[in-house]
Formats: sequence, C-alpha cells, structure tokens
Amino acid sequence: MDLIWLKETVCPACGGKFQSENVRQNKLAQVQVDEDFHTHYEPLSPLYYSVVVCPDCFFAERRQNFEEIKGKPLLAVKSGTGALRQMSGGFNFRLILTFELALKSFELGALTTQLKGDTSDVIGGMYLRAAWVCREVGDEKLENLYLRKTLEYYEKAYMNEATEFGQLGTCGFQYMLGEIYRRIGNMEKALELYMRACANKELRQKPQVERLARDQLAAAKAMVKAQ
Ligand SMILES: [Zn+2]
Repeated sequence: MDLIWLKETVCPACGGKFQSENVRQNKLAQVQVDEDFHTHYEPLSPLYYSVVVCPDCFFAERRQNFEEIKGKPLLAVKSGTGALRQMSGGFNFRLILTFELALKSFELGALTTQLKGDTSDVIGGMYLRAAWVCREVGDEKLENLYLRKTLEYYEKAYMNEATEFGQLGTCGFQYMLGEIYRRIGNMEKALELYMRACANKELRQKPQVERLARDQLAAAKAMVKAQ
C-alpha cells in the first residue's frame, strides 16, 4: 500500500520544478483527537505533508494554497526570498521528509504567510502545526515553545483583526485560545477564555466545540478549586 505519492509541482515564486510528497489521507487510520482538535493518524502523520516547500527558493505554503498565489502577495514573497533562504538554514527539501524538515517547513510557512500579508491566525496556524508534530514525538519542551508562538499570533488575530476564524467561528477560536493557555500552564487565562467561549451565542451552532468547551471549563474550575 503506497501511502505517499509524488506530484510534479511548479513553484509560483521562482518557476522551479520539483516532486512534492503527498499523503493518501483516506488510507490512514484516525487513532486519537486531542482537546485542541489535533487528530493523530497511523501509520504516519499527514501533518508532515501539509506545508509544501520549494527546494530552490524556500517559498512554503499550505498544500491547497501553494500554487494559488499571485498579484501583490506574490511580489511580496519574491522580494522576501533572501529572508526565506536565510531561514532555510541549508536544509535540503528534496530529501524525504523528516521531523526536522517538517518543523522547518512550518517556520518557513510562517515567514511566507507573513510576507504575503496573511492574517495572524493563518501565521499562528503554522506554529500550531509545529507544536503538534512535537507532541507526536513526545517533545513537550519544544511543543510548549511552539504553543507560545502560536498564542502570540492567535492573540493578535483575536484582539485586532476581524476574521471569521474558519470553521471554528469566534467561539471556537476563544475555546482554542483557552486550550492553548491550559497547555502552557496558564489556568487563569484558560478559565477566562473557556468562559468567554461558553457565553458566546454562536456556541450552539458548533456542537463539537460546545461539548469540549463545557467539559474543559468544568475541569478547569475543579482544578483551580483543588489548588
Ligand atoms: Zn521556488
């Protein structure tokens, strides 16, 4: 069973051609969903393949957006290739993806989306992927570091930018913020954000978020009380 297939890909930023690794998601088994919606699969992690990196200029984007860039964002990326190259740190993206290459792909993705002028939740999402692959290999210290980076951008998105936060909606985003705060050990902020999510009128339309938010709020309250 071939889980990986190669796709001939053309980089929109430099025109270089390369083979990108793709995963057959329907052949993976879902084994666990964490409270922050991270889904674990076996026998491999599809996250490793979620951001494509051009091995020539290091333009890095989510797979579904990779070939879509044009106009002003494309010009901005082209003018930022020096910074991307510097961040690449000499990694060879023509090789088979490893944990180190995957982490680097998310950092390059965070820089690319910043150059493009994407909203902070998109940039934060790159760091969240990095935190998740660290969790998959059991590196808590590094996971924590990337969760903090995620928060930095998610807080910015939450405070300053009018965005719909994708499928999560505002209540789901409040819940996610609470969940990340809990994971880095800030129970006070976690409680505050869980409460905001639970008080949000949108919550009823998101049954999965509603169940998690109420459960996590109750657990956090019990934990604070026990301290
Ligand atoms: Zn390129």
